[in-house]
Amino acid sequence: MFEKILIANRGEIAVRIIRTCHTMGIRTVAVYSDVDFRSLHVEASDEAVHIGPPAAADSYLCKEKLIEAALSRGCQAIHPGYGFLSENHEFARMVVQAGLVFIGPSAEAIAQLGDKIAAKALAISVGAPVVPGHHQSLSSVEEAVATAEKIGYPLLLKPASGGGGRGMRIVYSQSEIEDAFTSSQTETTKAFADNRMFMERYIPRPRHIEIQIMADKHGNVVHFPERECSIQRRYQKIVEESPSLAINEPIRRTMGELACRLARKAGYTGAGTVEFITDENKNFYFLEMNTRLQVEHPVSEMVTSLDLVEWQLRIAAGEPLPLMQSEINAHGWAMEARICAEDPRRGFLPTVGMITRYATPRGKGVRVDSGVRAGSVVTIYYDSLLAKVITHGENREEARERLVQSLNGFHLEGLITNVDFVNAVVNHRHFVGGDISTNFVEENFPNGQPVDEPALEKHHYMAIAAILIYHVRKGLVVESLKPMAAKIGRRPPAPTATEYVLKGEGCLFNVRLEGDQVSRSWKIAVDDTSYYVETPEFEFYRRRLKLKINGRYQMFRSRYQEQHIQIFFCGLIVTFEIYTRREWELSAYMPVERTPVRENVLRCPMPGLVTHVCVQPGQLLRKGDEVLRIESMKMESAIAVPFDGEVEAVLVAPGKTVDTDEVLVRFRSIANVSLE
Ligand code: ADP
Ligand code: ADP
Ligand code: MG
Repeated sequence: MFEKILIANRGEIAVRIIRTCHTMGIRTVAVYSDVDFRSLHVEASDEAVHIGPPAAADSYLCKEKLIEAALSRGCQAIHPGYGFLSENHEFARMVVQAGLVFIGPSAEAIAQLGDKIAAKALAISVGAPVVPGHHQSLSSVEEAVATAEKIGYPLLLKPASGGGGRGMRIVYSQSEIEDAFTSSQTETTKAFADNRMFMERYIPRPRHIEIQIMADKHGNVVHFPERECSIQRRYQKIVEESPSLAINEPIRRTMGELACRLARKAGYTGAGTVEFITDENKNFYFLEMNTRLQVEHPVSEMVTSLDLVEWQLRIAAGEPLPLMQSEINAHGWAMEARICAEDPRRGFLPTVGMITRYATPRGKGVRVDSGVRAGSVVTIYYDSLLAKVITHGENREEARERLVQSLNGFHLEGLITNVDFVNAVVNHRHFVGGDISTNFVEENFPNGQPVDEPALEKHHYMAIAAILIYHVRKGLVVESLKPMAAKIGRRPPAPTATEYVLKGEGCLFNVRLEGDQVSRSWKIAVDDTSYYVETPEFEFYRRRLKLKINGRYQMFRSRYQEQHIQIFFCGLIVTFEIYTRREWELSAYMPVERTPVRENVLRCPMPGLVTHVCVQPGQLLRKGDEVLRIESMKMESAIAVPFDGEVEAVLVAPGKTVDTDEVLVRFRSIANVSLE
């Protein structure tokens, strides 16, 4: 086995690889850019080497620097993690030429399978069904139009060397094809330095099912139970599980066999994932093979109790597979949610900032793979994935409930994340029922907001949490005043009320409490429903609150300011205004309608770098017109005007770094404003 390896990555995956290395007695060398000098992965590693400035191209993607670092520190191998150089065949070749072991497949296998056109041909040759389409590179718009006629609409344009969902375009009719082809090719060329595109039928409401395989250098190949990754946004996964409800035993067996056959034919070694989609009639089609460890590998680890990174290391060191196919047994169900620095209400655009508070959940069947901690600074330079929460249970529902509880207790402040969004996803009735597809997010959360009203009971629970926080704190204040009052001969302060009115956004609850902090049990009526609540140790720590309601523990997160208490639970966020019954009756309570301020400006929705400005002073714009483009976290996003208006001044230029809410463009007059 290796004595020392270099990990050519950062964030949660670097930390995760280091963890296995340490249990196996392998020393690790981490690498870091200027902005990562205090990162968790650097701290977790035995050694660390500085590799350059923040931009990935000058640091984590700099092949020579990484190899040089590995050699200078006496490493025998390099683990690339995922993303960055993990699927770069040149890097794999250079590592081997330098006399090191690349912990992954051979350069040839990466090159062949990284090319989606070549991979499809290989899949066909082993008898795997592929999505009907034209599996050749398209040379022109004319060829695309002619080919589309044969395949039929809707169809999907894809980059041959794509990844991370980039460059793909759905085309519904011939009129869209020219634009789609051109824009996809531009994005593809920029992202992958390769302009080859191909086309396949767009499968409506597909489910994404994938097979993890492991192959050693002695010709053995095994597969793991399938994972389902249908919950996606921007063609990228955010919630994954294993096994899947979408397939039956014969399909499961066929997919596993096909994945192994494909790996054998490609001369594959190491960890890899064969991705399929299924259609609504349970047909399945090969999509692509990822020649690396996947982000979602922990769900496979949770159901098999195996360590895939350990397997990768053993295979790379030349050992045979630790287990044969018949020895790989799955137990129960596992689910994972990705916690990303992104704003679901702003098209999942990346967010940045410093994490000011951070506490992750713990418990039976709960695993958190995290690359950050309080004090970590999330920058525009890298992927937005901060952490993953993975849970295991005897069955799907138990795994899901544990995930919900864990997300309820996942506390991160300082920047906007998707934690409440993924929580809302796994609480959604269609997710609970297993009725999912890759369109789930679009269908059920357009603009990042749910279309369904959540169950009333969840709001009741939140009202209970809010009132207990208010009531107990108030009670403690009253108690602490009593001795003082007695000393100075004043009347003791009035006991706290037991009847309250809670006003939340779109809801109003009458709440009555019986019980007290001494007995630690309460009967709480919310309108006409009674709940039995226990506050065993009134665990209210770091803004997390744990209550036992009707016999079951529930975790809440909260923020409070005077009589406003904000509660986070199951993906819901409600700010309650709290009144005692008497205050409510006395106040001739006149709700003050706040009119949103209309600003004649366009503010920046996210931090990044301006790459294009498309408008100039004096220009008249219609709502939705593109104003400029901003690059942030490996993505270019177009910013459009939310109203009609005449441009007065453009305050930024290409090359300028901009921050969230910075004014980009000022308008002389605006009309047709849509209110948020
Ligand atoms: P999975 O999530 O199944 O492991 P993804 O395709 O989502 O696979 O990619 C894994 C990680 O690598 C993600 O963090 C993604 O952003 C990143 N990634 C994937 N492809 C690329 C690419 N071509 N360039 C840069 N980053 C990529
Ligand atoms: P990437 O390399 O970016 O991961 P994939 O080919 O794996 O590209 O596709 C990513 C996602 O795009 C899939 O998980 C699926 O949601 C969607 N997708 C890909 N091909 C099709 C298709 N033919 N029809 C419908 N959806 C598709
Ligand atoms: Mg894929």
